[in-house]
Amino acid sequence: MPKVFNWQLGRPMEYPYEERHPQWQFAFVFNINRCIGCQTCTMACKSTWTFSKGQEYMWWNNVESKPHGGYPQHWDAKLLALLEAANPGGQVWNVSQTNGDRRPYGTFEGKTIFEAVAQRVGPEGAQTVLGYLPTDAEWRHPNIHEDTATGRKGQPGDYSGSVSLPAHRVWFFHLARICNHCTYPGCLGACPRQAIYKRPEDGIVLIDQSRCRGYRKCVEGCPYKKAMYRPTTHTSEKCVGCFPRIEGKDDALSPKGAPLEARCMSACVGKIRLQGLVKIADDGAWAKDPQNPLYFLVRERQVALPLYPQFGTEPNGFYIPPRWVPRDYLIQMFGPGVEHAIEQYSCPDRELLAVLQLFRAQRHILFRFEIKPGKKVAEIPVRMPSGKEKVQEIFNDTIIGYNKLGEEVARMTIEEPTFERPKEMHVNSI
Ligand code: SF4
Ligand code: SF4
Repeated sequence: MPKVFNWQLGRPMEYPYEERHPQWQFAFVFNINRCIGCQTCTMACKSTWTFSKGQEYMWWNNVESKPHGGYPQHWDAKLLALLEAANPGGQVWNVSQTNGDRRPYGTFEGKTIFEAVAQRVGPEGAQTVLGYLPTDAEWRHPNIHEDTATGRKGQPGDYSGSVSLPAHRVWFFHLARICNHCTYPGCLGACPRQAIYKRPEDGIVLIDQSRCRGYRKCVEGCPYKKAMYRPTTHTSEKCVGCFPRIEGKDDALSPKGAPLEARCMSACVGKIRLQGLVKIADDGAWAKDPQNPLYFLVRERQVALPLYPQFGTEPNGFYIPPRWVPRDYLIQMFGPGVEHAIEQYSCPDRELLAVLQLFRAQRHILFRFEIKPGKKVAEIPVRMPSGKEKVQEIFNDTIIGYNKLGEEVARMTIEEPTFERPKEMHVNSI
């Protein structure tokens, strides 16, 4: 197989195709600390793209309650088990050397889904990607284990056994997921029809419906299980990144054609989501652009981390990890950058605190931000997760966000302004 460079693993890796990169890449940051599991994002996607016959079980956006929930059920545990079986004891990170651009989290010394597949020759011959096809039962319950913390003892629907594992006693978190529009997609690498492609203008990964023959190799090969089969058309479908909105084709919201965030992003009630486009250099690295909010969060502050980077697809979805969850679990899920990310988030510096205000400030994609300094308004003692004490200085700075056309579209202050309603108005209001 050809070799490509994966910056999230800090090393070259095998991939079925030669390295090629888009000019811009669809990317997003989800702040897990704020997700309330309301599923508004899920329904925004459903009512836009997957409300037709044959799409009943398709949830391109889903929110699962970890550690036990998953859609399809056990998707991540099953893949981790397959990788471990292919490389027993070898799925480890070497964090002795990190380097800002090429190796920010150290080096992954284990095997990816493209490398671990060599030992697995199925009845159809050699495969290009290590994966599995979920069963029908595993696709049946998109929010299994949501709100079932106690279950009904001894009754049908008693899930209490599985939520009282000693290692997972008193915590959970909501993990919102969509297709990661990966740099090296497993779905694309697995498709024998070459029906899947990555758009050069924005890195969105699409399935050409006229080429697809429904072999479901993409369903097997996507480690995140975000390619799904539609029995009414005998083809596979997946998240399309709301590409008409990314192209600025929504006249009502963007009459001048500035790119808009996807529907699931725009609808987020918990304000956990920030989507963007990052500029990609010729060698596939993110072109240096510290005033781009996504670049700032992922590459400058490293407060947001990729989901299961060890799978090897270089996913373009990044998560601010939840502070209350055991670290071993988080490191398995987000790699060795977890401690650093949580320290950053627990006591954000002045610039980071301002950029965090941009989440859900606008539906236009923000390409650049600028901060106008304000007065100091507070000093707050903070106990860091490491046990260290710190004092956080809070300044009432103003952050301004600009769209692709350079227009100001967002203006937020650190202190939320309050307004007093004049009493002569709203006389019936209490
Ligand atoms: S998340 Fe899955 S479906 Fe989406 S691009 Fe990556 S491998 Fe393909
Ligand atoms: S809309 Fe936002 S807060 Fe609600 S479940 Fe989705 S990601 Fe979480």
